[in-house]
Amino acid sequence: MLCGEYSFQLYCADVHKAPAAPPPRPLPPQRPPVLTLPFLSLRLSVSAVKILFPRLQSDLSQISFELVAECPETGARAGLLHTPHGAIETPVFMPVGTHAAVKGLSQRDLAEDLGVKILLANTYHLFLRPGHELIRKMGGLHRFMSWPNAILTDSGGFQVFSLSGLRKITDEGVIFQSHLDGDLHTFTPESTVDVQLAFGSDICMVLDECPEYPVTHEYARQSMHRTVRWAQQADRHHRMRMSESATRHALFPIVQGSMFPDLRAVCARSLVDLDSDGYAVGGLSVGEPRALSLEMVEATRDILPRQKPRYAMGVGMPKELPEYVARGIDMMDCVLPSRNARNGYLFTSEGRLIVKHARYKDDERPIDEKCQCYTCRRYSRSYLRHLFLSGEILYSSLATRHNVRRYLDIMCEIRHAIISFTFPEYLKCVRSASLDAE
Ligand SMILES: [Zn+2]
Repeated sequence: MLCGEYSFQLYCADVHKAPAAPPPRPLPPQRPPVLTLPFLSLRLSVSAVKILFPRLQSDLSQISFELVAECPETGARAGLLHTPHGAIETPVFMPVGTHAAVKGLSQRDLAEDLGVKILLANTYHLFLRPGHELIRKMGGLHRFMSWPNAILTDSGGFQVFSLSGLRKITDEGVIFQSHLDGDLHTFTPESTVDVQLAFGSDICMVLDECPEYPVTHEYARQSMHRTVRWAQQADRHHRMRMSESATRHALFPIVQGSMFPDLRAVCARSLVDLDSDGYAVGGLSVGEPRALSLEMVEATRDILPRQKPRYAMGVGMPKELPEYVARGIDMMDCVLPSRNARNGYLFTSEGRLIVKHARYKDDERPIDEKCQCYTCRRYSRSYLRHLFLSGEILYSSLATRHNVRRYLDIMCEIRHAIISFTFPEYLKCVRSASLDAE
């Protein structure tokens, strides 16, 4: 396919229909996980072992990552992330449910209509309100918010550094003032693990320091070493908690080092020693040029273990998603699809659409003629513009549904391209398309 002749959207449409592309390589059959018991010379399915040895159950449902395909040219990966709340196809985009809700969408919209398999929730916000002990009392976050699929919670570090008016960082942790009522609280590496375990998160994150941008190399170095020490403390505490727990919860440390590749590499090497369930790259989207954040991800690509999932925190715009995947990233999250939707900024396969523009006043077309979401199947640009200008709550719900679907569609396209070994062409087309969306 001559990329220049096609728009991003047309190419993607072709990927879905695949008239000229080589037939996708079939996925290996999904065998049930097995456990080898050398002392019995047996290989049993996990379900069989759970029946025979119920006390071993907690060791069998931990987070694991299975590589399904890898792009030989870029290293982009397609995989399956197994969690106690279901398997997740990667690369995956995780919608953000800050206060245990994605603004404008119900859990039914997310799980049943959009097929979301994993949500992100914010520890800082839920710790302050309603509090982790209340959530524990209500049966954990899954039950509290009636969410059947996986949940990842951040450690709260990013919000402490971006929202809290007053904060004091010590080697022990961070003392911060609530942005709600001014009360003082302390997060330590150990306490943030306990808070996330009270939530029952499938994937917890370690407390990290997220330096603002820019900072000096010296400050970034000290901060990075602090983050590594905190990760080691959190890891010890988490292992101790898991040894006495009947349920499994993963813990991902976070690579920091501001915008200095040498510090990123040192940090990643230290964290790899923890042999964690997965690794995150944090400290991105703090005001740096986008090329720099991609460079920071690249700096650790060959250091982080290939068999573990990698999560780029807080990224990105639609055209950036394949760029992160091309650098070995498997998981991403961002508030952009939901926040921008509420502000009237819609993502389409042909670029951005600002819904309030007068040109859509009598436009009968859907937001995106290629989109199969409920909003696009049912409503016109004209009606959505009217709802937006009238301040109707329905607008936010319909617009968010579309924008989240757009992100999920992009991730599907990316995964399909990796599995069908057409990812380099896909990436080339994304780069050359004049999306004018961002
Ligand atoms: Zn749509």
